[in-house]
Amino acid sequence: MAVVYTNHARPADTIGETMLDICDLTRRYGAVTALDAVSLHVPDATIVAVLGGSGCGKSTLLRLVAGLEPPDGGSIGFRGRPLAGVPPHLRQIGMVFQDYALFPHLDVAGNVAFGLHERRLTPAARTARVATLLDLVGLAGYGPRQIATLSGGERQRVALARCLAPQPALVLLDEPLAALDRTLRDRLVGELATVLRRVGVSALYVTHDQDEAFGLADRLVIMERGRVLQTGAPELVYGQPASVAVARFLGQRNLLPARVRSAEGARGVVRSALGDHVLPLPPGSRVGDHVTCIVRAEGITWHDGVVGGSLPARVLQRRFAGSRVALEVALTDAGLTLGCELSGIAAPAVGAVGWVSIHPAALWCCPAEPGSAPTPDP
Ligand code: ADP
Ligand code: MG
Repeated sequence: MAVVYTNHARPADTIGETMLDICDLTRRYGAVTALDAVSLHVPDATIVAVLGGSGCGKSTLLRLVAGLEPPDGGSIGFRGRPLAGVPPHLRQIGMVFQDYALFPHLDVAGNVAFGLHERRLTPAARTARVATLLDLVGLAGYGPRQIATLSGGERQRVALARCLAPQPALVLLDEPLAALDRTLRDRLVGELATVLRRVGVSALYVTHDQDEAFGLADRLVIMERGRVLQTGAPELVYGQPASVAVARFLGQRNLLPARVRSAEGARGVVRSALGDHVLPLPPGSRVGDHVTCIVRAEGITWHDGVVGGSLPARVLQRRFAGSRVALEVALTDAGLTLGCELSGIAAPAVGAVGWVSIHPAALWCCPAEPGSAPTPDP
C-alpha cells in the first residue's frame, strides 16, 4: 500500500493564511532591472505559477525568496513575518533548481537523506522517511541507484523528493521540467501537481512554458521584463487578458483594432471589422476609446454551408498539427484574415470556400496598446 506523506510540519491553524507575501520587490544588476516592483501572493496550499519569457526575472525572483540574494527594495513576508535577514537554511523554503543540482557522489537515497541531515532522526527513521519520500515521487526501490544511471525524469523526481524531505512550508521550483522532452513533460506536470497537492505544500513554480503553467497552477502570474502584467486563475487570464501584451504572450494572434461605440456600466458595444459586439469593456472605458478586440482562434467554427450569423470565408493556409489544424482564413466581406484552430477531423483544404462563425465567448476586448496606430472609424 502506498504510504502517504503529508506535511506535518505545518500547524493546522496556518491553513488558509497567506504563505508568501511579496511586495514591490526590486532587484537590479548594474543597468538591468531584473525585478521591477514585483508584488505577488501565494496562499497556503496553493500552487502559483509565474509564467514569463527568458530573462524576465523568474530565477531572480526565486533566488530572492530563497534568500540566496538580497533585494534592492521591497519586502518578502512569510507566514506574516518579514524574511529580511533570515538565512536561507532557516526559511523553511525548499528549492528545486532547473538543473536539479543533485550530488553525483551520493546515491538516490543519499541525495534524499541530505535534506534530513539537520533533523534528529534515528538511522531507522531516516531510512523509513527516505523510502516514504521515494514512494511519494514514484521511485520506490530506487534508493541504491547512482544518479548517473537515472533518466532526466527520474532525476527530476529525486530533486523533488530531496526538496520535500525537510518538510518545507513552501517549495520553489525553477523550470523543473525544462530539460525534458515534451511527452515526458506533459506527464510529469500532472504528477508534480499531484505530489505537491498531496503533501499540502505551497509552491511557487516558474516557467516559460504555457502548457506547464496551465497544467498545474491554481493561480497564474504573467511576468514580462521584470514586471507583473497580470495575476489570476489560469482560465481567466487566458480568456480575459488585461492587456494586448498578455494576449500576445499567451499566443493570441487575432487582435483587431476596434472602438467603443456605447458604454453601459462594465459592458458596451465594440465595433471592429467583424461588426458590433456587446462585450465587457476595459475598466474606465469611454465611448470613442480605441480598444483591441481579441478573437480566440479555437472559438472559430468552419461551415461548408451558410448558417445564421456566419461570415463568408476562404482558406488561405493550412498547417496540420495532428489533433488540430491551424488555418489562416480570409473573411471576404470583413476584409481581414483570422487564424483558426480546428479539430484535425475534416478540416477544410487550402482554397476551400465556406463560412465561419465565432463563439461569443471567444471575443474579448483590452485597451489598445499605447502608441498603436489609431483605428479608422469602422
Ligand atoms: P529568467 O529566469 O526569467 O530567465 P533571470 O532572473 O535569470 O531571468 O534574469 C533576469 C535578468 O537579470 C536578465 O536580464 C539577466 O541577464 C539578469 N541577471 C540575472 N542574474 C544576474 C547576475 N547575477 N548578474 C547580472 N545580471 C543578471
Ligand atoms: Mg531562469
